Amino acid sequence: MKLESKLSEVGMNLKSSLIRELLKYASVPGSISFGGGVPDPNTFPRHELAEIAKEVIEKEYAYTLQYNTTEGDDELAKQMIKLLERVYGITGLDRSNLLFTTGSQQALDLLARVLLDRDSICFVEFPVYLGAASAFRMTFTKFETIPLLDDGMDVDYLERKLKELDQAGKLKHVKFIYTVPNFHNPAGVTMSLEKRKRLIEIAERYDIPILEDDPYGLLRFEGEHLPSLYKLAGPDRVILLNTFSKILTPGLRIGVIVGHADIVRKATLAKQAADLCSPSLNQRMAARFLERYDLLEYLKPGIELYRKKKDTMIKALEENFSDIKGAKWVNPQGGLFVWFTLPEGYDTMEMFDIAKEKKIYYIPGQAFTIDDSKSSSMRLSFCLPPEEKIIEGVKRLKEVVVEYGKK
Ligand code: PMP
Repeated sequence: MKLESKLSEVGMNLKSSLIRELLKYASVPGSISFGGGVPDPNTFPRHELAEIAKEVIEKEYAYTLQYNTTEGDDELAKQMIKLLERVYGITGLDRSNLLFTTGSQQALDLLARVLLDRDSICFVEFPVYLGAASAFRMTFTKFETIPLLDDGMDVDYLERKLKELDQAGKLKHVKFIYTVPNFHNPAGVTMSLEKRKRLIEIAERYDIPILEDDPYGLLRFEGEHLPSLYKLAGPDRVILLNTFSKILTPGLRIGVIVGHADIVRKATLAKQAADLCSPSLNQRMAARFLERYDLLEYLKPGIELYRKKKDTMIKALEENFSDIKGAKWVNPQGGLFVWFTLPEGYDTMEMFDIAKEKKIYYIPGQAFTIDDSKSSSMRLSFCLPPEEKIIEGVKRLKEVVVEYGKK
């Protein structure tokens, strides 16, 4: 059988993600990887979860080993509503405002299915979170990219673009503005309060929904917590995506859509078609964990661990790259990523061949573009390697850059 001739348009367009391809190298012995944005397993509450798993399987097996509703676990919903109130100050939520998903990656997919068509336009930040771009792309939507500045997206640019689209009669095609406001993946930047307000004001003026994706908000090392867009503008304007991946464990695969009951209902119907429901066991484990432990207290040592690793990476970058004119890096206030940019002319994808030889891995900026264009930036994640490997890794990176520069 010739598979090519049988593939759908979506099937034909699917290609392997650059990140997945590059991460294969990271398991080579002696290598140091700044590639994967995966949490440090030392932060996982394994003993607590093991105890809870045994208990909920033995005592609640009729629920935990059974199918669930598509909406997800009501006990987890109760805990989530409490958490959202405590952490984000969001009030007035009820069960109809929440849908549990298989990680927030599924939330991105479901929302793309219910909001985007072939002639749609969605706004994303540049550089873009790769997973969102992949999910949205499945619908053949068009993309508009908004450059990211040190304090979040360039809202003036957004405003100009919306005005242009309005004048061209194309505003009706714009379905949403997607943003990662806290400790952006990959850019590391955080949207200032002023910009949050401007973004909402612009979105309201042009009547465009905002998709707020906030996996990292609770991983803040320094500075004040900023109000979420959802808190500032409410469910008529904002759909909030959250996940337990970076604050509990990604292996549970629990994300949540928080939004107006109407959009949550549509996403629920799409989820029914996609996978019927998320695992009952995982959701009930998370619910019992939140019931018994104070999540914010439990997070503190993990945040401290990441803060130290981040400081080590920033110091190593300062020590090694201050002499390279035009090299710059974002010092993030939280999250898992440093965005590192080399002077113009460097192509971090091409440079990757030298990095492979020296067994140091990063994600080239090209992976975070919509059109696969060349980039002089790279994403460095500091979450996994121990501090001494971070220091050694940045030294190797310098060697790579110097060798590439000599070409
Ligand atoms: N959004 C962003 C911005 C992310 O960085 C990630 C994880 N890398 C996700 C969504 C998806 O996370 P998960 O599916 O594990 O909840």
